[in-house]
Amino acid sequence: MNLHEYQGKEVLKRYGVPVQEGIVATTVEEAIEAWHKIREQTGTEFVVVKAQIHAGGRGKGGGVKLAKNLDELKEAASSILGMHLRTPQTPGGLEGPGKLVRKILIAEDAYRPDFKACKEYYISILTDREQQRNVFIYSTEGGMEIEKVAEETPHLVHKEYIDPALGMQPFQARKIAFNLGLSGQAFKHMVKFATNLYKAFLGADASLVEINPCLKTADDRIIAVDCKMVLDDNALYRHPDLEAMRDLDEEDPMEVEAKKYGLNYVKLDGNVGCMVNGAGLAMATMDIIKLSGGEPANFLDVGGTADAERVAHAFEIILKDPNVKAILVNIFGGIVRCDRVANGIVEAYKKLGDKINVPIIVRLQGTNADLAKEIIDNSGLKVYSAIELQEAADLVAKVLKEQQVA
Ligand code: GDP
Ligand code: MN
Repeated sequence: MNLHEYQGKEVLKRYGVPVQEGIVATTVEEAIEAWHKIREQTGTEFVVVKAQIHAGGRGKGGGVKLAKNLDELKEAASSILGMHLRTPQTPGGLEGPGKLVRKILIAEDAYRPDFKACKEYYISILTDREQQRNVFIYSTEGGMEIEKVAEETPHLVHKEYIDPALGMQPFQARKIAFNLGLSGQAFKHMVKFATNLYKAFLGADASLVEINPCLKTADDRIIAVDCKMVLDDNALYRHPDLEAMRDLDEEDPMEVEAKKYGLNYVKLDGNVGCMVNGAGLAMATMDIIKLSGGEPANFLDVGGTADAERVAHAFEIILKDPNVKAILVNIFGGIVRCDRVANGIVEAYKKLGDKINVPIIVRLQGTNADLAKEIIDNSGLKVYSAIELQEAADLVAKVLKEQQVA
């Protein structure tokens, strides 16, 4: 689950990580109110207005604007709120439809009073699966695209692996501050920043926390100016308060619906929908779709209990995708018997009736597979049945070809 910048900063604060303070607004009026509050608290009229969407690179797309006074604040807030922000990370990139901005963050300009005395760093924590450890990735080259830094000047990107048994050691935090070239108060603040950042990463069960830029201010404080945080979905049950931060507006509506029915669905761009039980089989099924000349339109694991209701919901979700030209159902009857699944498919088909307007290929293998094939073949429905994987793949190729001809 992704968090917005303002939510990530909230989590960081709980763990004692200093952040650029801000106030969220959903209207220009609220933005004005926030501006007044910030002026009262800090005495400054200089603020930054930042679009809150689940994508980075907002600065480049016009989603981050500085305002020197109230008029500029109004202008920035009204231009960013309601805009369709395109960044390299929004769907379809800079050419895509962008993401609607519903919320903005108004924050005190952290680079004042002396922009030149500030320095931007990059610091992130994630899990390195190969090393089976969490790792700090950090660099003196903050503020810009870290991918570019890694490609062009890899020696400027440092890594610090954390031993899972020992945890983060004090010398490791000092090493990070040292490699970032800090000294004096800034050094001390960075040690604390990195230490608490790791506590936040562990405490929130995050899979990624990325601070870019992490700023050394003119008065040598270290603060998070930006925050990208991704939480591990499998650990969310331990954090009802964090789960409540989920912003459904930012998620794919079909994936949200699938979740409601306990289906594990990921939308993809291809033309063959698939419904499978088990993640491994789903991956293999996507491979055979590719081998048969199609492209998978989704990943969908219906789980162990492929009953009629779940199958019907799964069909409905797959069919909502207009790119789908055929559906391949590939179920292995291990615990669940194939004839039960077949009956489920027939029931679902009857329930959805005319909503199903693409050919369906069903491959049922395992317990009672023959009986299942009989049920499908005798149902009188426009469903192709197969038992072998190759048969199913050939049928997918066949129906795709027929559709090209038609
Ligand atoms: P991103 O583009 O989505 O990564 O958004 P960021 O929060 O990183 O902001 C983009 C850029 O705006 C940063 O790299 C900073 O250089 C700049 N920026 C952000 N906040 C401030 C601020 O308070 N003052 C100034 N002067 N620049 C800022
Ligand atoms: Mn950033």
